[in-house]
Amino acid sequence: MMYDRCFICGTTRNLQTHHVFGGGRRRSSDRYGCLETLCIEHHTGSNYSVHQDASLSLVLKQKHQKRLMDEGMSVEEFIRIFGKSYLDRNFWEEDTDGEA
Ligand SMILES: [Zn+2]
Ligand SMILES: [Zn+2]
Repeated sequence: MMYDRCFICGTTRNLQTHHVFGGGRRRSSDRYGCLETLCIEHHTGSNYSVHQDASLSLVLKQKHQKRLMDEGMSVEEFIRIFGKSYLDRNFWEEDTDGEA
């Protein structure tokens, strides 16, 4: 899912593509559209960038996990592809009866 402006600040200058799930999951990020457009400052170039701020990185991971699950991916499938779930269990169990 690509945009022509930075996800964080909205600038249209110095944009780069961020793979939300990096490292060994980079290909899966490509395949499942887990890409974000960020300016260089918010990509890698400052303390408040996805490569330096884990909480910011997590926001994007959660956003894309939610999207994929909204599109019909099960949490088991997500974990098989991306290694772990980044969402609280409530996100996919909220409609079920609470079983002990
Ligand atoms: Zn930015
Ligand atoms: Zn990146």
